[in-house]
Order: sequence, then C-alpha cells, then structure tokens
Amino acid sequence: MKALKLTAPGGEVSIEEVDKPVPQEGEILIKVEASGLCYTDVHICDGDWELVDAVIKRDLTLGHEAIGIVESVGPGVTGIEPGLRVAAPFLRWACGACAQCRRGEENHCPQATTLGMSHDGSHADYVVAVAEFVVPVPEGLSPSQAAPLACAGMSVLGALRNAGVGLGTTLGVIGVGGQGHYAIQLGKVMGAKVVAMEIDNAKLELAKRLGADCGFDVSDESVIPDVVAQNCDVVVVTAPSHDAHRLALMVTANGGTVSLCAVPGGETPISMTACGFKGLKLLSQAVATRQDLVDVLDLAAAGRIQSEVETRSLSDGVQSLNQLRDRSIVGRVVLVPE
Ligand SMILES: [Zn+2]
Ligand SMILES: [Zn+2]
Repeated sequence: MKALKLTAPGGEVSIEEVDKPVPQEGEILIKVEASGLCYTDVHICDGDWELVDAVIKRDLTLGHEAIGIVESVGPGVTGIEPGLRVAAPFLRWACGACAQCRRGEENHCPQATTLGMSHDGSHADYVVAVAEFVVPVPEGLSPSQAAPLACAGMSVLGALRNAGVGLGTTLGVIGVGGQGHYAIQLGKVMGAKVVAMEIDNAKLELAKRLGADCGFDVSDESVIPDVVAQNCDVVVVTAPSHDAHRLALMVTANGGTVSLCAVPGGETPISMTACGFKGLKLLSQAVATRQDLVDVLDLAAAGRIQSEVETRSLSDGVQSLNQLRDRSIVGRVVLVPE
C-alpha cells in the first residue's frame, strides 16, 4: 500500500510503498477514505516541537484525522464489525486507569499514544487504530467533511467548553485556518458573539461567511484598540505563531481567558505584567476526548457546522505539506487514497 512517510523529525518526507499493517489484540484495520492534513503534521516533520521529538516514531506514517471503513478486527475486539465507517482521532489510546483518565481527561493521560506521531497514521491506504478509541461516523456525513473533525474540530470544541464559551460571551478567534474556522462556527452554535482576527484578507472573508460578527486585519496594529473595545471574554489562539500569542494577551478583556490551541515551536516571550494586572487566565488545549469527537461529529451531521475542505490525492501529500507550512491553504486539505 501507499503511505506518506517521514524518516525522522527534520528528515525526509515521501510517498512510499509499504506493507499493509495487521491489527493486533484490541486493534482494527481501517481502509482509509479521507485523512485530514493538520499543521501538527508540519511540526512533526520539521521537528520544531523539541519537547515531543523523542516520542515521534522513526520511519513514521503521518496522518491523524482518519475516516474510513473497518476492514478487519484483531483478536479480542467486540462491538465493531467490518463495514462500519469510523473516525480515528489523534488520541490513539489512553490507559483508562490513571488519575487523569479517571476524572475524564483521557487526553491528559501520561501514557497516551498518538496516531501519526507515536504510531503509524492515516496518510495511507490503510491504518490500524485501537478499537475502543474510534467512534462511528453518523449517517449523512461525508468522509472528507468528517476527517478534520477528528483533530481540529474536536480540539476546538474542547477548548471552547473548557474556556466557558456560552450565551452572552464574546469570543475572539485569532487565525482563521483549520481550527479557527471551526472556532467561529462552534462559537456561534454555543451562543457567543464572535470576533475574528487574521492577517490574510481571504481568510477574513471566510470568517464572515462562516458567521463571524466582525473581523479585523491585525497585520495593521492600529486596529488593536478597536479589537480591545470588543471586550473579548475568551480569546482562542489557533495560529501557531508567537505574534498570535502576544496579540491574544493584548486583546483579551480584563479577567478573561486565553485558550492556546495552536502552539509554535520554541519559546514565546509574553508579558507577565499584562497577565497579572489584567487577571488573565491561560488555558491550553491538548487535543480532546472521545466525547468531544462524538459531539462535534453530531453537530456536523446535523448541518450546524461545516468543514471548509479541499480534497486532494494522497500522492499530493508532500506538496500539500509544503503549502500548509507556507500558510497558502485556505480551510483544510483532506488527502484521499487513489
Ligand atoms: Zn491535528
Ligand atoms: Zn491514563
């Protein structure tokens, strides 16, 4: 089968012919229909997340937003039959027994494994997933619409929930890319007023089309007082840049919450004075739980949110990763095996 392979962080990326994997105890084999490309793929390839480089599998198949049909099941798997369409998310497995798992935070499990990072992923014809950690895709939702929900969509839903977004709150969204375009729609579904911030006008247009109440081109710093006047209770950062994180501190209202969804490599100098005097709460979102995935898939199946996707062939994977790194992609690219 074909797979998009990475030799090691910072190494070579290429489409290779590899053996079809075999599901082991508790695992299932999925014939991939759609696999979302995520900026995390770029971080893994570039090796700019020094903290996680050691857990990245060598000779890795990339991809962690998988939708496909169960082809076969390994020993001990019950409740999942071949033929079922499932979503396999970035969180490949969690232990279920640690303090974090027991209190419902499986995404914080210290032993968690990850699809397309610690284990081979879904930019391939087939992927192996852990049966207990996939969820069925609701009827009527296409594989390409569903794929980015298995990381970007679910993470943003988890972030907005954890930050307390709801009726009457004002939500600022920095970056209108893969995660950001879901943040705008989910913010509206949850009852918030949504303020979009971008440095790219095409993406601001998308924000308005998806329901943002207003949008600001923050490449021009003179607009910052106008953004501050919006009084954003929560600002979610979905652009993996240091400037985006510094901007978040500037535009979040006093006593408000900054939610970090996209994290750049290296270190961001931020103003502790601003954090202290404004009484800001800093949250970060490390993907999300299976329940967040179930809920975001249901919202999409009900037509309440949409994925802005462009479908490309798996063989365009290397080129698409380069375009994602250049920020020249609007919305989300989904790779589809031939
Ligand atoms: Zn992702
Ligand atoms: Zn655990």
